[in-house]
Amino acid sequence: MQTWHNNKLIEGKPVIDSLNWTLHYSGSVWEGIRCYHVKGASKGHLFKLGEHIDRLFESARIMKMEISYTWNELVDACKTVALANGARKHDLYIRPIVYYSQDAEGIKSSSKKVTVDIFAIPIKNTYNKDGIKVITASRHRSYPTYEMQCKSSNNYGEAKLWMSEIERSGVDDILFKDEHGYYTEASVANLFIIKDGKMITPPNDGSILAGITRKTILESQVGAYSFLKPKIKRITRPDLILAEEVFMTGTYAEVIPILEIDGYKIGPNKGWVKTLQTTYQNIIDEKENEFNV
Ligand code: PMP
Repeated sequence: MQTWHNNKLIEGKPVIDSLNWTLHYSGSVWEGIRCYHVKGASKGHLFKLGEHIDRLFESARIMKMEISYTWNELVDACKTVALANGARKHDLYIRPIVYYSQDAEGIKSSSKKVTVDIFAIPIKNTYNKDGIKVITASRHRSYPTYEMQCKSSNNYGEAKLWMSEIERSGVDDILFKDEHGYYTEASVANLFIIKDGKMITPPNDGSILAGITRKTILESQVGAYSFLKPKIKRITRPDLILAEEVFMTGTYAEVIPILEIDGYKIGPNKGWVKTLQTTYQNIIDEKENEFNV
């Protein structure tokens, strides 16, 4: 494995010691990008790379971190690390992370100086593409909502707390809700329901991460004509339980059907999510792309 660290490729992973500021106080920002191997060609394709680097800079801005590289430099760095790790042969998950590299000598000691590392990790598909079961969280997420706009390690601590609950219930994921009881998203994916010819997802009002896959799906034309009209609306518990289909979207997850919620079987299944999976795959397969390697 080769990693991009301090503006060059190194063998293996950089060593961070346990007095590291970010390890103690959190606040790193990062991205998750898919690099798809283009089937039948010696080519890799960093899907939506530009949008991911945009979001990395936005997350850093929210967290008051100053990245000392330009957008173009980080785009090139992601391409370099992908190529060095076999992007022309197999799929990869590209993970840039921005963090404080100094010692944790007190919370105020953090300067604005940050380090950027970029990893290329082999893909393990963690969700069953045929569908998953989820539970809903019994209480709402506690963060101030503006922070959810930002892909920061701060926001994953609470998801981690729920992991044992997910395991105990024998399900695959959890759906969070906001302080008003509306359902917002899953642990690392955005939430959609399908009802009466519409695909409905909650607003980007600060209570969700504005997913790049969510945007791709909202803008996609499903089927030969657009049969499913996109709609932005808050999702209540009856909306969830009485939906025709429910699914979640994310770079890593892609498009995953949710078949059961808190023991309720979702249906009738009209096959829309299967169609959406094909649509998404077709979008990925559009080969000519400025982010090919
Ligand atoms: N919400 C959260 C909390 C996430 O971690 C992710 C994964 N990045 C998503 C939604 C989906 O975002 P995207 O489609 O950009 O991967």
